[in-house]
Amino acid sequence: MTAKPATPVQVPQLIDGEFRQSQSSDWIDVTDPATQAVIARVPCATEAEMALAIESAKEAFKTWRNTPVPTRARLMLKYQELLKAHHDELATILAKETGKTFEDAKGDVWRGIEVVEHAANIPSLLMGETVENVATNIDSYSITQPLGVCAGITPFNFPAMIPLWMFPLAIACGNTFILKPSEQDPLTPTRLAELFLEAGAPKNVLQVVHGRKQQVDTLLTHPDIKAISFVGSVPVGQYIYTTGTAHMKRVQAFAGAKNHMVVMPDANKQQVINNIVGASVGAAGQRCMAISVAVLVGDAKDWINDIKQTLESVRPGVWNDPKAAFGPLISPQARNRVLKLIEQGKAEGATCLIDGAACVVEGFPDGNWVGPTLFSNVTPEMSIYREEIFGPVLCIVTMDTLEDAIEFINNHPCGNGTSIFTASGAAARKYQHEIEVGQVGINVPIPVPLPFFSFTGWKASFYGDQHAYGKQAVRFYTETKTVTARWFDSDIPSGLNMTIHLK
Ligand code: NAD
Repeated sequence: MTAKPATPVQVPQLIDGEFRQSQSSDWIDVTDPATQAVIARVPCATEAEMALAIESAKEAFKTWRNTPVPTRARLMLKYQELLKAHHDELATILAKETGKTFEDAKGDVWRGIEVVEHAANIPSLLMGETVENVATNIDSYSITQPLGVCAGITPFNFPAMIPLWMFPLAIACGNTFILKPSEQDPLTPTRLAELFLEAGAPKNVLQVVHGRKQQVDTLLTHPDIKAISFVGSVPVGQYIYTTGTAHMKRVQAFAGAKNHMVVMPDANKQQVINNIVGASVGAAGQRCMAISVAVLVGDAKDWINDIKQTLESVRPGVWNDPKAAFGPLISPQARNRVLKLIEQGKAEGATCLIDGAACVVEGFPDGNWVGPTLFSNVTPEMSIYREEIFGPVLCIVTMDTLEDAIEFINNHPCGNGTSIFTASGAAARKYQHEIEVGQVGINVPIPVPLPFFSFTGWKASFYGDQHAYGKQAVRFYTETKTVTARWFDSDIPSGLNMTIHLK
């Protein structure tokens, strides 16, 4: 049972090197999604607090950019060690405020730790290029330099992993960073920031402010912010990208998704079922890489009943219930939106094989529960196909051939992730080559790349060009400077050169 705290914590902000209580008059309740108990209150930063955070980060940049790269790498080494030592504690905080099961919460923290491990490789990631003798006695080389103050705006669904996609790499590159976490689960990012200071991060290099649109708008429009990293829904992502770039900032905006799993008839049926259930309703479907559409090809369409039986066998529960397969949705609003889409699916003619709308969890009557839900006979014009449901709802479509499946999926505006289950290398190769989606799993349902690659969503799932983590993040958080250098080895002057030709 989740105990109801007597007094909700007032979430502090990390501004100008200190965790401070906000002077704001505008506060948002952070609730336990299984009970609605208010577990914390998060402020919407005042204009003065936003201004101080930005000024402080700008000032800190002057020294941090000159800090030796190995020193920055050692900070990341220490930080990943501390995060590992606090893994269970972080997962507990995270599970309580998101409702995720403890095991899933640990995964959220772990995928973030992996990015910090990657950031510890910053010396080799920052290496430029050199060509000797581009002309007689002239060498050229490129160096990578930080941008200045960067900012990150993160969603509720991965409150450890996604902040850790951003600030460790940005800071390892020599930038300073302002994080605006989701107002729905700010406790995990706050603890991440405390541990960052404990690891030895100089004061002011990281600032954490809270709020919603107004605070985000300050970051998007302030001339001292050089780059914006955003992760969240499609409409907000489009707004962030257009507003940030209109204010001459570098922007990477990761947005919503609709991920398909293609099931070929030669795949191992039990493997498919085991993978599809976890990938669709795990984390209550609140993953940007969740599988929300199964595309059954040819005779695989006969497996609908087997998928249904396994989906019916899993149920939600509270974060510390070891038998719970997933938790509640983040908020009553999120639940109502999912319930509305389930009703629309029925009204628009899809067949509802399992309806999770009435799901209850004993002892937790106020939780934001939705049980596993399964639709078949789904067509592209239906709301449940067009929209990202972000709930434990799986839609099934059937296709005659792999070519039909590829064409169908390529017509969806989103392109975050997809997978194919098959025993055929040729089918997998064709799928990998022809599918217009940025992350492909072959017999892997949720192909989130490890941090030495980049998180490469496409189409409406990403606005920008350099993606999160990997080498692309280092390019995003740095400028390249190219030097062309000549050292004279005698006092005899070279002749006049009236052209741009290097001789
Ligand atoms: P959201 O878009 O509602 O909020 C994300 C962030 O933007 C929050 O910090 C929020 O405070 C801020 N925000 C909200 N409305 C805003 C506005 N009008 N102007 C400025 N800022 C605003 O997203 P969410 O509900 O927190 O997260 C779920 C969404 O994130 C899903 O669509 C999911 O697919 C997506 N997501 C995408 C990825 C990816 O890598 N593509 C990863 C995780 C989540």
